[in-house]
Amino acid sequence: MANCSFLGIPLHLGTGRFGCEMGPSAFRAAGLGDALSELGHTVADLGLIEPDPVKPVKHANPVLKALPEIVAWTSAIARRVLAIPQGTMPILLGGDHSMTAGVLAGLSQRAAEAGRPFFLLWLDAHSDCHTLVSSTSGNLHGAPVAYATGEASFTGIYPPLSTPVDPRNICMMGIRSVDPSEKQFIAESGITVHDMRSIDENGVAAPLDAFLQRVKAAGGDLHVSLDVDFLDPGIAPGVGTTVPGGATFREAHLIMEMLHDSGLVTSLDLAELNPFLDDRGRTALLLVDLVASLMGRRVLDRPTRSYA
Ligand code: MG
Ligand code: MG
Repeated sequence: MANCSFLGIPLHLGTGRFGCEMGPSAFRAAGLGDALSELGHTVADLGLIEPDPVKPVKHANPVLKALPEIVAWTSAIARRVLAIPQGTMPILLGGDHSMTAGVLAGLSQRAAEAGRPFFLLWLDAHSDCHTLVSSTSGNLHGAPVAYATGEASFTGIYPPLSTPVDPRNICMMGIRSVDPSEKQFIAESGITVHDMRSIDENGVAAPLDAFLQRVKAAGGDLHVSLDVDFLDPGIAPGVGTTVPGGATFREAHLIMEMLHDSGLVTSLDLAELNPFLDDRGRTALLLVDLVASLMGRRVLDRPTRSYA
């Protein structure tokens, strides 16, 4: 059983609209704590993170929105996450995906301090690989992956990274909306991407299993970042960036069940839930069920098969 620590991140500034700042409250209202307690886990709710004081920060790209504020959030989030003791499982309740810049900065350093390599499973319709230069929307929820890997445009603007995430240790699933500059970043960096076409053709089990084998062989920490828009909008309407053709109910649960069986997941963030756009808590409740699957809930206990 795990010792879980909830940290709420009431952040919406990476999206250019209000709503995601209500996410932590919606996860609590949907019963996330009770769901994990019923599975036998210990849950400590550490409350909400607050941003650091905002300092003036400028970048030549004029479209970037709330850059000084996002920088202030990133440093605060990284510090809080890093302070969570080893052996405790941080579960970050977002908040838009710009929060994951700080989450990855803190967690990659935490893994390095324990002497373990750091791996990232990214479940999202988007790759969030924009740099400060390439962003055309200016919404910084599209940039956390590029920052966390140490991309140069963030240097001197975002907080310095003590341990950049190795792009070869990143596996993305569910991707179906990628801008040309992000495509180039993915190709050059060596990130593994299983887009929806690949999932249609091959399913989720084989590619996920291959990634988990790598994490296991390396003895790594594994962080899972789940963007609500990974899921098909038909089952998860509570997000501002819906893209048709997302993961189904069963594909999502199978991923969570396989992650639980692997025993490899050391941290989790839940990003982009917008309760204002949700349908009577339906998306929040689905997310709670998915986290419960990740943490061991199953319909039937399956006997371990012997191949001897
Ligand atoms: Mg995202
Ligand atoms: Mg997304």
